[in-house]
Amino acid sequence: MKFYKRNQTKKINVGNVTIGGGSPIAVQSMTNTDTRDWKTTVKQIKQLEEVGCEIVRVSLATIEAAENVSKIKKHIKIPLVADIHFDHKIAIEAVKQGIDKLRINPGNIGSKENVESVVKEAKNACIPIRIGVNAGSLKIVHNFVYNVSKAEALTNAAMEHVQILENLNFEDIVVSLKASNIDTSVQAYKLFASKRNYPLHLGITEAGSLFNGTVKSCAGLGIMLNDGIGDTLRVSLTASPIEEVKVAYSLLQAMHLRSTGLEIISCPTCARCKVDLINIVCEFEKKAALIQDLKKVKKPIKVALMGCVVNGPGEAEDADFGIAGGNDEGILFKNGQIIGKVKPDKWVSKLIAMLKTCLS
Ligand code: SF4
Repeated sequence: MKFYKRNQTKKINVGNVTIGGGSPIAVQSMTNTDTRDWKTTVKQIKQLEEVGCEIVRVSLATIEAAENVSKIKKHIKIPLVADIHFDHKIAIEAVKQGIDKLRINPGNIGSKENVESVVKEAKNACIPIRIGVNAGSLKIVHNFVYNVSKAEALTNAAMEHVQILENLNFEDIVVSLKASNIDTSVQAYKLFASKRNYPLHLGITEAGSLFNGTVKSCAGLGIMLNDGIGDTLRVSLTASPIEEVKVAYSLLQAMHLRSTGLEIISCPTCARCKVDLINIVCEFEKKAALIQDLKKVKKPIKVALMGCVVNGPGEAEDADFGIAGGNDEGILFKNGQIIGKVKPDKWVSKLIAMLKTCLS
């Protein structure tokens, strides 16, 4: 499936998911519920599981929230990660409650001693720690003191904390170096990747709304993935976390790094198009998303939906099957051969039926 050469990173286990070392790039998201309300949090995690989220992070802002970790874990299937800021005691409570991974932000977790106490607990529990450096919360003093760029400052901060963990003989480490600026993020990740082989959690932080955040995230993450960087990722959107997972899979599918089982090829439409292709494609996409067996397919099934025959036959050659529009009908292709004609109101049902036949 993958065409990109990927960096050889260390393998790290997060619960039952392995990241790094050539494992499939794991898709993560983060709940936006109040973690003190564990039932609502579980409900959202189950929705995330349904769309394929493989690792989920919850923010633990208080000890009360950390005390809910074991309750949440009893009701979910995917590994749970605790996001800790400011108070290392919350991290220690999360470990006691059975968390699968900790994410600490070196910019605000406090003293070296605090970090050391968290590391000790994680080591005893055999769980990894993500050093999550974030340009927004990190006090970037380095660029003033040492005259380095923000990307270098991010990398230096990550390296300082990696060193603290390594000095404690702790190497169960994942690293992220997020900034809302694509260039800063890309440079920081590249720089870190040249220094250590710990798996990298990719993200463009505070990327924005569903539309703009998707574009920005895919631009930034795409550059890094193209360079072989990245072992797990979260698309960070000001939107439902469900959308984050969908965008992540769509990006990985587009880059041939993960398969969602289906690749849709559809044209932008123009004056030659005599069918309502935009709505047909939306309807097909929605109905195909409900076919659970598709997710088990290793090589994606390519389906072409074209507005007219100008590019239809050419695309159909590359697709497993598809339809190219005509005047009030469509020409049905399979493996490059015309096999029939279909009225526009039957395109979706016909293509869904063909999809199911491919899976049977
Ligand atoms: Fe226009 Fe046909 Fe091309 Fe679609 S395939 S954009 S309808 S020329």
